[in-house]
Amino acid sequence: MKTLILGAGYAGLAAATKMKPVPELEALLVEQNPFHTFETRLHEAAAHNTRVTLPITPLLRGTGVQFEQAQVDGVNLDEREVTMKDGRVLTYDKLVVALGSVTNFYRIPGLAENAAELKQLSDADEIFNFVNRVFSNEYTGNRDIVVGGAGLTGVELVTELAQRASLLSRERGLPPFQIYLVEAGPKILPVLDDALRAKTEQVLRDYGIHILTGHRLMGATPDSVTVQTADGEQKVISAGKIIWTGGIQARDIVKGEHLEKGPGGRIAVDEFLRAKNYPDVFIIGDMGLALNQEGKPVPTTAQHAGQQGRLTGKNLVRLAQGQDLEAYEPTTLGEFVSLGGLMAVGWMKLPWNQKLAITGGLAHVMKRASEWRWRASID
Ligand SMILES: Cc1cc2nc3c(=O)[nH]c(=O)nc-3n(C[C@H](O)[C@H](O)[C@H](O)COP(=O)(O)OP(=O)(O)OC[C@H]3O[C@@H](n4cnc5c(N)ncnc54)[C@H](O)[C@@H]3O)c2cc1C
Repeated sequence: MKTLILGAGYAGLAAATKMKPVPELEALLVEQNPFHTFETRLHEAAAHNTRVTLPITPLLRGTGVQFEQAQVDGVNLDEREVTMKDGRVLTYDKLVVALGSVTNFYRIPGLAENAAELKQLSDADEIFNFVNRVFSNEYTGNRDIVVGGAGLTGVELVTELAQRASLLSRERGLPPFQIYLVEAGPKILPVLDDALRAKTEQVLRDYGIHILTGHRLMGATPDSVTVQTADGEQKVISAGKIIWTGGIQARDIVKGEHLEKGPGGRIAVDEFLRAKNYPDVFIIGDMGLALNQEGKPVPTTAQHAGQQGRLTGKNLVRLAQGQDLEAYEPTTLGEFVSLGGLMAVGWMKLPWNQKLAITGGLAHVMKRASEWRWRASID
């Protein structure tokens, strides 16, 4: 059974590392980087240059899965072909597509051209280099940063940047830059309950971050953004760096006449995470549109991508051994948002669907624990 796994992010790597050598199974993991990126820690790399990658090859020892570093150009499910950037065409018996998501700029004028993103290591490096430049004596340009989108990524990023600015400011005797967090919706972090949100806002204000909720980003130039309030008032905010974390969409790389797509271009899958109408193709992680027990879309998170990957890896082994597939049952164990240093907020799931809200050092430990769990699960 010739099996291709495309992408070694949370979903693809989890699938590959849950496999084991089976005589009938020949599996290849294809990924454009030689490393796995801990995407959930990119904000730390952006502010502090923290190492957030891990070489892939050693992680595949004992799995029977081969690795190839290559870029996928297109996937044609009707022809059962994967075309690579270098022109080669790979075929498969079973295919796992786990190529993640891309930033959605919502066609806001000038935004894609002028804003940095935070989706891969090079994005984090670009932000880190900007911050360092701003704190050099030669820098004469605008020093301020506008971050668009106050979801998990935006909030985690601004707190790390504020911490870094205060450190560099002390070290180099220069004033910190201003950070503007721009959000069209009425509140930051809509996934959190009101008490946790209030705590988060307090932390952001203590850092001196300007929270501009109810401000829709209307356009961007190389050195400014235009925002509009609910009552139509427009303002221009000048910035040395604009970063957009306001939305994602599934990577649009898979073609198939009978594919069903949902919100954000995610590909609808069945209870075994196989693309609807394509039973030999599993779509997992941010690209897939799996439904939870209430029929609602499973969130695009590392937590769920990992669960889907682990199940798919095991299911591939089952298929090779002629066994039945196990169905996907998503669980959300909790959600934690780091707010710089040892500060975090979030909640964990308790029995009988109760949630326990946690803030401060304990929440930070819980956030770190989820990262350690991920690290242990792929070893
Ligand atoms: C800053 C930040 C913070 C986050 N924090 C959290 C958090 O705290 N908790 C949480 O649960 N989620 C968090 N997320 C979301 C989480 O990271 C994603 O939901 C998760 O990465 C999705 O996993 P995936 O496997 O679908 O995609 P990815 O992890 O993005 O993996 C896709 C892989 O495919 C590879 N690839 C892409 N295109 C090609 C190609 N053409 N050819 C070959 N390889 C390719 C990429 O290099 C990548 O390795 C955060 C995201 C960001 C950006």
